[in-house]
Amino acid sequence: MRVKIMGAAAGGGFPQWNCGCRNCSRLRLRSFQGTARSEVQAAVSSNGSDWFLLGASPDLKTQIDHFPALQAKSGPRNSPIQGVILTSAEIDQTLGILMLREFQPLTIYATKGVQQILRETNSMFQALHRVADQARWVNISAGQTWPLATLNGADSGIVCDAFRLPGDFPSWTPASTRAELTETDAVIGLTLSSSSGKTMKWMPGAPLDSPELIESLEHCDVLFLDGAFWDDDELIHAGVSGRTARIMGHTPISGPGGTLDLLAGLTRPRKIFIHVNNTNPILDEASEAHAQVRAAGWEVAYDGMEICL
Ligand SMILES: [Zn+2]
Repeated sequence: MRVKIMGAAAGGGFPQWNCGCRNCSRLRLRSFQGTARSEVQAAVSSNGSDWFLLGASPDLKTQIDHFPALQAKSGPRNSPIQGVILTSAEIDQTLGILMLREFQPLTIYATKGVQQILRETNSMFQALHRVADQARWVNISAGQTWPLATLNGADSGIVCDAFRLPGDFPSWTPASTRAELTETDAVIGLTLSSSSGKTMKWMPGAPLDSPELIESLEHCDVLFLDGAFWDDDELIHAGVSGRTARIMGHTPISGPGGTLDLLAGLTRPRKIFIHVNNTNPILDEASEAHAQVRAAGWEVAYDGMEICL
């Protein structure tokens, strides 16, 4: 299975259009040792020709422009993109599917709650249903395992397992809709299994809030984990928010009870931080924070990163 990281940043990307933090300012001035990153997006394929998207980032159109394997082949309208798996209803994870309209057939896997928010309270998503057989939505839920199928029904060679992650529906969900939703539908993580028997976990935006969740991370070969913030009070120090990482639903990387601390005993998987906020010092390859992360055996995902398993 090929795994392509098309975007590695948290919401807003790096640099963020309205951010003048130390990282964003130095990147614009070209005095930063590190690279720009677009909003989180991954694509996976078992055969190199049929691809599935994990989430649908607001930067998806540009990300496809930078990744030839996802581009249309010569001839009439076509796409190697077979489907999209949505892990929440957040704008950062869903806006990109509107870039995939243009009458193109597509399978969209999402929980019932995520579908309700997108399809019933946002009329814009009806653009995916202008012709018959355009978007086909498939209900998934935490605890479910299913094989990803191509648009013509063939086995893709990838099996997907959804599991519940802590988190809530987006803050902008109307109260009347929220009252009808099932809490376990809000945020899911994914375990993808390749035909080689190797597995990866995809958890780009959730806190490590239980011993069971932490223990489960040992059962994969590659782990993509939320690396939004280095410090719990990072946004407060940067002067951009009064909220801590933990209040926003993220486990900070550093400090007691931080990710490096909680996962110091993790031995099996290759460990990769993704969904990195633009204020996070690990983006600066000359920083002490970056050195600490690398010394602890972690990698920092970047746009264009590719792994095989
Ligand atoms: Zn910034």
